[in-house]
Amino acid sequence: MSENNFEEKNKDGNGNGENGNGNGRKLVSIVIPCYNEEKNIDRTIEGLLNIARKSQYNYEIIAVNDGSKDKTWEVIKTYADKYPSVKGINQMTNFGQSAAYQAGFDLSQGDYVITVSADLEIPLDNVEVVLRKLEEGYDFVNTHRVGRWQNDEDATNAGRSQKSGMANKIIGAISKVHMEDRGSGMKGFTRIIVKNLRLYGEMHRFIPDCASVYGARMMEFEVQFSDRDFGVSAYKGNKRTIKVMLDLMTLGFMLYFAKKPFYALPGRLFGATGAVISGIGFAIGGYLGFLKVFMGQSIGYRPLLSVAILMIIVGIQSMMMGVLGELLMRIYFEATGRKTYTVREVRE
Ligand code: UDP
Ligand code: MG
Repeated sequence: MSENNFEEKNKDGNGNGENGNGNGRKLVSIVIPCYNEEKNIDRTIEGLLNIARKSQYNYEIIAVNDGSKDKTWEVIKTYADKYPSVKGINQMTNFGQSAAYQAGFDLSQGDYVITVSADLEIPLDNVEVVLRKLEEGYDFVNTHRVGRWQNDEDATNAGRSQKSGMANKIIGAISKVHMEDRGSGMKGFTRIIVKNLRLYGEMHRFIPDCASVYGARMMEFEVQFSDRDFGVSAYKGNKRTIKVMLDLMTLGFMLYFAKKPFYALPGRLFGATGAVISGIGFAIGGYLGFLKVFMGQSIGYRPLLSVAILMIIVGIQSMMMGVLGELLMRIYFEATGRKTYTVREVRE
């Protein structure tokens, strides 16, 4: 280090450290999950290329083929071979939308990352609106599809709009994140959120809630929805209502522990309740022992005896759970390299 540590810094030396290939432009990564979209993906990529040509940003378009049974990958390949800014990922099999997003996120390098559905359900020019919002300082931008399923003639879509509205309200009540349309395919992220998000199972439904864990500034704006011209939605029918309900329970626990990991310490939680329960158990046991030894009463027939034994066992079990929880949490953070915090900026 120089001896000038206490002199003022030269102010012009930085500012061009963005990912946009050195021409000072920021890089935007578009991630498109594709499952059986052979009839849609060409129009989606063409549309995005058109936006990219007119844009003041550099773009990389990442199309993820999620084990399609049709010619989706063939189409993606021709674009990836033709355009340097188009990249294709071919998953070995159908891992689901969350995994497809994650694969795209892992490859992406953009300062901003935007997910786009392959089926053109949202007009593509909204990408630029998402970018404006990210530029304004939001870390996560969601879109709300207006008029979705409302006058749908397809009977399998009956009640979808109401159910989805309900689901969003219930999830919001649990996570305290209020968004109208979690299922919308167009979402924008800053690099830092993408780097931290880990989408397991079917967690793509809870992206806003997961993003909130890292302290993301969030917003949502309305977009026009039009149903796909080709192919079918991957999520028809009633099967997923129960799945979402079950996932919600997991989410509730995850959010509770994730927001302040070492604050709601499992050791404290289970340790304290366990100590209280077994404490009461020992007290009752002591009282019965006193009756037996000093008063000569027989206690074998008393229900209180079972209560005491039960409370001692449950209490000790609970304390052990707390210890295990503490260990697991440390292992989790060490093994995943995850931090217990996210930093927006460090200034030196
Ligand atoms: N998708 C995927 N893997 C799947 C299911 C869906 O990559 O297992 C993609 C699909 O190709 C689309 C997006 O995820 O680009 C949203 O799916 P879809 O339009 O079928 O769902 P909906 O819009 O009805 O929620
Ligand atoms: Mg769709």
